[in-house]
Amino acid sequence: MATDTEKVLIVDADKCTGCGVCELVCSMAKHGEYNPKKSYIRVMKNREMSVDIVTRDVRCDFCSKCVDWCLPRAIQFVSPPEAAVIRKQNKIGMFPAPLLSEA
Ligand code: SF4
Ligand code: SF4
Repeated sequence: MATDTEKVLIVDADKCTGCGVCELVCSMAKHGEYNPKKSYIRVMKNREMSVDIVTRDVRCDFCSKCVDWCLPRAIQFVSPPEAAVIRKQNKIGMFPAPLLSEA
């Protein structure tokens, strides 16, 4: 079983609606306020390509609250081997979230 530090956030871009609920849940859980800028999961909108790119900050502690509240079930934490399998399956739209460094 993977330890917390080995988890990978996998995003199914086909399911992600860009609603931003994950950002609100994280900022409330970690900072006690609804402020997407303080969230450790961020949804970057690429309007030109009409896609939402979900990223995870290195400060994320894998509490999974964002996963629990993502109603379309677009995000999940998996072990690195599971992430590799998902990547190998090459399902378009499913990818490990880019990791952001602490600002
Ligand atoms: S990952 Fe889930 S909660 Fe976050 S923006 Fe996408 S659909 Fe909404
Ligand atoms: S798992 Fe990470 S990004 Fe999600 S709510 Fe917890 S700290 Fe925030």
